This record gives sequence, C-alpha cells and structure tokens, in this order.
Amino acid sequence: MKLAHRSVSVTLPALILAALAFNCLQIGRAQQDSSYKIHDWNRPRPPVVEPATPSTQEMPGKAPSDATALFDGKDLSQWGSMDGSAPKWIVKDGVMECVRGSGFVRTLQNFGDCQLHVEFATPVPPEGKSQGRGNSGVFLMGMYEIQVLDNYNNPTYADGYAAALYGEYPPLANACRPPGQWQSYDIIFTRPRFDEKGQLVSPARVTLLHNGVLVQNNVSLKGPTNWMTRDPYKWHPDKLPLALQDHGNPVRYRDIWIRELTDAAQKEFTFSNQLLDRYLGTYRVTPRLSLVITRRENQLYMKLVDPGREHEHPLFAESKTKFFAKDVDSYVVFQTNDQGVAESLSFYMAGDTSQAQKVK
Ligand code: MG
Repeated sequence: MKLAHRSVSVTLPALILAALAFNCLQIGRAQQDSSYKIHDWNRPRPPVVEPATPSTQEMPGKAPSDATALFDGKDLSQWGSMDGSAPKWIVKDGVMECVRGSGFVRTLQNFGDCQLHVEFATPVPPEGKSQGRGNSGVFLMGMYEIQVLDNYNNPTYADGYAAALYGEYPPLANACRPPGQWQSYDIIFTRPRFDEKGQLVSPARVTLLHNGVLVQNNVSLKGPTNWMTRDPYKWHPDKLPLALQDHGNPVRYRDIWIRELTDAAQKEFTFSNQLLDRYLGTYRVTPRLSLVITRRENQLYMKLVDPGREHEHPLFAESKTKFFAKDVDSYVVFQTNDQGVAESLSFYMAGDTSQAQKVK
C-alpha cells in the first residue's frame, strides 16, 4: 500500500487499517518463517480479533472485527450483476433473495485466499427434485462452485450434493437442515498459484464446514467446476469477484462476511465496463510523455508512450477513481466531470506525481 507519497491524502483510520493489514501480512509471514528461534520474544504476535457472534435461526450473527461484511441485511451495495451493473436480486426483511432469471450476482471487490462465511435458506415449500430443488451456489473467484442445494430428503448425484465441490468432490456428510431453516458454510479457500508463464504451480484448495460439520477437508480442485465436463486450469488473476448463482430457485442469503488471508495488503475491485469506459483516452503528462488508457474486457490498461518506446501495464481498481499497476510502482487517479467522465488524471510513478490533461 502506497502511503508515503505527499500527494495522497490519508486519513487516520485509513492509516490504522493499512497498518493492521500490513501487520497481518507480517504475522502471516512470521507464522511461516522458520528463521525465528523457539519461543522467540521478537516474533510478531497475533493481532487481536474480536470473534464472530454465532447466528440463531431468528437472528443473524455478527462478523469478526477484521472481516468485510459483504451482506449484513441492509443493501446490495457490495454486489453487482456479472457485468458490474446494479444487481437484480432483491433485499427484503434483512435477507437477499435470488430472483429467477436475473442472473448471478457478484461482489464488486476481488478476493483470492480467504475465509468466507455464508448463510442460506432453501425455499419452502420445497419444489422440484434432485438438482431442481433449492439450487444455487457459492462461486469462489467466480469459477469454483460450492454447491448450494436442498438435499433434505432429496437425493441427487453425489458430486452435486449441497456442499459438494460441484462435479469434483461430494461432501463427506449430508449436513442439510430442512428447507426454510438457516444453514451456514464456513469456507477456507486457497487460490491456485500460477508461474510467470501461466502454468499451474499449485491447485486451489478448499476446506468447508456445513452447519459446523466438516464436509470438505483441504481438497485440491482439479480445475474450474462445471456441469458434465472437467475443464483444466487456465491462468487467471490472483483475485477475482465472488459470485452467487441464480439457478432459478429463490434461495435466500444472509450474514455473508469474508476475511482476506495472504492477499490482504491492497483492496481491489472489478467495476462495470460502463464505468471504465469513462476513463478511456490519451492524457498528456509532459510534451514528450503521454498516457493512453484502454480497456480489454473488464481490465484497464495504461500505455506510457514516449517517442521511441512504449510500455503497457494492466491497471487494477483500488476505488472507483484510483487504479494501480502491480508490475511497476505506479497509479493513476482520474478526475471526472459532472457526468463522471475523466478530463484529467494524476499520474504517480516511482516517487513523482504529475498532472495530465486528456487530449483525446
Ligand atoms: Mg448450483
């Protein structure tokens, strides 16, 4: 997290949060680091976290103090449709409910390694059978599905049961509660790792407790989950949005929270292409140097154009107007007009900040 530069205004809470995130990372490293002596007094101590309050059937619980609440019963401000536009699921009586045919919803924020808590209730009265009853799904990184299904007195194929890694691993037990009752998934997810050439180094791994019962014990995924097929791994970014499935059944969700693990240092979001397109154009930094902002799919790119040389870098959203590069120490902050269209930007690069006007 880049806090030292004078042109960035940083509030005290932001500094504390950044320090906490940094501290967590250091502690994560310290836990793995074998260079400490036994009982080393200088080894970083674990941060204090106020634990979660468990839910009851009547009342959702409270997230741990360092978690991000993705849905706390109020609104869908953390969610979008898959293209980043406003989600079409509904919120009523403190729960969010899937609307048939409205499509998946996804978080605006991207996540990699995480601890995720999700509560859901399948519809009453139950309708349909096998995969047609209370079907939804928690899609880690938008592609690794933990099945949500009503399997209370409703058999289906084993690798499609509730709490299955769909099409890959049946759960170790069927811990379903009756339809209409609130149930929980507590998920520990380790994202896959890829090398610089995009080759798989280590697969995604999942541990899952369904209503407190261990049903997936650190299983290694064979690739993205799918229906009737097993797709191989393909390179993807370290963080991607979390999605919930619309499978045509009005499954309800509440009390969704997440703790980022090893990737927590910098928050990252995937906004709509409609928003990103407001930033496209060429910005003049100096008479020689221009910045060209383009978009491919849902990713912005920044091309530095200096006579005789060009470099292009993918940009990641830290907020709706601030985008950072991961491969160089650089970020841009767009300044917009009343319509939200960028007219200028601040360009930070390795210790220096410049102001740049859009020229086309
Ligand atoms: Mg499903």
